[in-house]
Amino acid sequence: MDSWFCDVHTHLTHERFRDDQHQVIARAIEAGLGAIVCNGLNPASNREILRLARAIPQVKPALGIYPTDAVNDMLPDDYPYRVDRFDTRSEIEFIRSCAVKKQIIAIGECGLDGYLVGEETFAAQEKVFEELIALAIEHDLPVIVHSRKREVRCAEILSSLGAKKVDFHCFGGKTKHAQKWAEDNGWYFSIPANARVSESFRKMLSSLPADRILTETDAPYMGPVRGERNEPANVVGTVAFLAELRGWDTADAKKTVWGNYLRLFGEFDSGNSTATS
Ligand SMILES: [Zn+2]
Repeated sequence: MDSWFCDVHTHLTHERFRDDQHQVIARAIEAGLGAIVCNGLNPASNREILRLARAIPQVKPALGIYPTDAVNDMLPDDYPYRVDRFDTRSEIEFIRSCAVKKQIIAIGECGLDGYLVGEETFAAQEKVFEELIALAIEHDLPVIVHSRKREVRCAEILSSLGAKKVDFHCFGGKTKHAQKWAEDNGWYFSIPANARVSESFRKMLSSLPADRILTETDAPYMGPVRGERNEPANVVGTVAFLAELRGWDTADAKKTVWGNYLRLFGEFDSGNSTATS
């Protein structure tokens, strides 16, 4: 079996990729990536990701609603980030229609955020998160989870709904929780490209069960060099670091992570999808 590198969580629809999105993707393919899972946040990015995935086989579409976008109608007027106003109900129905047509590889990004927004939004965030998890389970799709400052609550909800195909992206909670959830629930953890400068990601790379580790970038964020734009090709460095930490050959580390990717996400051919959006 050929093995490839994978980036299971990236945002190539971000405005910082507007001028060179295709060069960035070409560099990733050149570096050996077989899967670039683009995660949607809102109606605009969800639709752009579907278009990109139809054009480029290595781009795999995950559609979701970012936790703060899920409460777009509750954000204060002086909220520092640009968030489009949209109806989450109808966006969930759009995502459902894509799942029915087998146009998507996963549900994400979705989850809970307790860093950017306050407690008054938690109940509304949880409602959207629960609906997206239920949709994923119904269509046997993985869920890619954002869990900032709300890791334990995310896990409670995922467990109570019986979610098995789960990837926690850029997990910032306690490493002992990651360890337990990987072992007991079979959940996956995708490690970003800045692992060499992060004590907790280094710890996760060296101690999580080897069959539960994935790589991601969260590009343009979380780059290996602070302040520099990140891109999917940087997962290659994370796989090299995983090999170093475990005393493996790089080829073995690559094979392990690619096997994990296939186990969670399965084979997916965007060209097989039938309908257009
Ligand atoms: Zn993200």
